[in-house]
Amino acid sequence: MSCLFCRIINREIPASIVYEDDRVIAFNDINPQAPTHVLVIPRQHIATLSDLQPEHDALVGELTRRAAAIARDRGIDANGFRTVFNTNRDAGQTVFHIHLHLIGGRSLAWPPG
Ligand code: 5GP
Ligand code: ZN
Repeated sequence: MSCLFCRIINREIPASIVYEDDRVIAFNDINPQAPTHVLVIPRQHIATLSDLQPEHDALVGELTRRAAAIARDRGIDANGFRTVFNTNRDAGQTVFHIHLHLIGGRSLAWPPG
């Protein structure tokens, strides 16, 4: 499996892991865009949001709820944070294993570029 994030899950590549359980793992982005920039991913390899099936609904809910919990743990939830899934070229997706970006700890511009 050549997927970068599967290799992080399998401990073939080091990462700064901030949370993990049976289904979800979260680690600091290697190129952070804000004081908090965490990637929350499923252990299961799913390439893009377009590949999601109804059976993944609970898993996606867990990713979202975990991002909110990490934001709360870091004390950035009251001020606010952003969660983003980039999908395919126009959104700038570079790693084809779905990942929820949790970005916060500073004021964020909108609309995004
Ligand atoms: P995308 O552009 O696909 O939405 O996001 C991919 C993210 O993965 C980028 O923010 C990038 O900085 C991050 N990333 C790429 N390679 C690595 C890596 O080896 N380790 C970690 N921790 N993050 C990575
Ligand atoms: Zn993968």
